[in-house]
Amino acid sequence: MPHYDVVIIGAGIAGASLAAEIAPHCRVLIAEAEDRPGYHSTGRSAAFWAESYGGPQVQPLTTASGPWLASPPPGYGDRSFLGPRGALTLARGDELHLLGEFQTSFAGTGVRMEPRDRAALVAQVPGLAADIVAGIFEPDCCDIDVGALHQAYLATARRAGAGLALRSPLLAAQHGSAGWVLTLGDQQVTARTLVNAAGAWADPVAIRAGVRPLGVQPYRRTVLQMRTNPAAPVDLPLTLGVRGDYYFKPEAGRLWLSPHDETPEPAADSAPDELDMALAIDRFQQVVDWRIEAVEHRWAGQRSFAPDRLPLIGFASDGPDFFWLAGQGGFGIQTAPAAAKLAASILLGLTPDPMLERVDAKLYDPARLG
Ligand SMILES: Cc1cc2nc3c(=O)[nH]c(=O)nc-3n(C[C@H](O)[C@H](O)[C@H](O)COP(=O)(O)OP(=O)(O)OC[C@H]3O[C@@H](n4cnc5c(N)ncnc54)[C@H](O)[C@@H]3O)c2cc1C
Repeated sequence: MPHYDVVIIGAGIAGASLAAEIAPHCRVLIAEAEDRPGYHSTGRSAAFWAESYGGPQVQPLTTASGPWLASPPPGYGDRSFLGPRGALTLARGDELHLLGEFQTSFAGTGVRMEPRDRAALVAQVPGLAADIVAGIFEPDCCDIDVGALHQAYLATARRAGAGLALRSPLLAAQHGSAGWVLTLGDQQVTARTLVNAAGAWADPVAIRAGVRPLGVQPYRRTVLQMRTNPAAPVDLPLTLGVRGDYYFKPEAGRLWLSPHDETPEPAADSAPDELDMALAIDRFQQVVDWRIEAVEHRWAGQRSFAPDRLPLIGFASDGPDFFWLAGQGGFGIQTAPAAAKLAASILLGLTPDPMLERVDAKLYDPARLG
């Protein structure tokens, strides 16, 4: 039976990034249920890096990941994974208190936030509804090339010797004195440590391994790709409602729009719901006066959260040699470099990378959930 030091369940951004970090130090296998990596949440993201997204306790991971994404180390290609975008959070007259609370919650974090009055907003978002009167601009928000990032992590892991087994769902996991015996599709392997990077399936994987589930809940999020008239300006920022009821951004001459839906559902190959799509369009039409000429494409994916909405990075308190890298919610791409380095340092007992200087590992320790 092949033996590995670490078997990682899931080849999304979480599993791929961790494999790239640890493969130089130990024998690693990534086991993926699907026939290609990135089929679930990782391949369905809206592809932005926004320091405020996910809240002030996720922000240290996002901020720490920024320089790495902007200028990746040798071996990850010689180009940035980030492109300029900016983010604009908008408020109507009766939402000004929310805008104030939003800005205050990031005080002292170093996240750049610039207040915008109506005249400045209209210059950035033409055709803006008259009742939208104020905003906060985050100049540092960027687009992320998610496909390139994910592929670069997989390629780096592979070059360092990690294996990738596709069509290899974790079907059974027995832990004994010699470590884990794992059934991955039709093959069996042994491993010292089992890593749960299974995204929406994080709790089912824990249960399969006899470890207490931590209440990781998948929520559906819908995105529409639209052709509008006027077309979205190429330099339109990521534009969000301060209530968390919509966001949109330009993408290759089209507009990506989400109603910011959060419908709990079991882990699944999520699909968009007609009602969420109608809601998205209705909300969009209350923000700008642009005509929607066509909805060209729509998709949904799952964002999976622990009960406190912070990621789970660390060993299970009840499962020997079982490691959680899950609960990345809506920020798993933008936090991946720092989250992977943190996970690698805990998993292998390595000296934490200097990028983690301002990251408090205790915030993400699964033991916090009892
Ligand atoms: C619509 C949408 C927009 C988003 N926008 C952004 C954004 O702009 N920026 C950002 O940072 N994040 C964004 N996110 C969040 C981000 O996509 C996720 O946080 C991230 O992709 C999670 O990565 P993951 O590797 O944990 O999960 P996944 O990519 O889902 O990977 C988990 C993998 O585990 C596999 N698996 C599950 N069970 C088993 C098993 N038993 N055996 C083997 N394999 C198994 C699955 O097949 C899957 O491939 C968005 C998410 C959605 C849905």
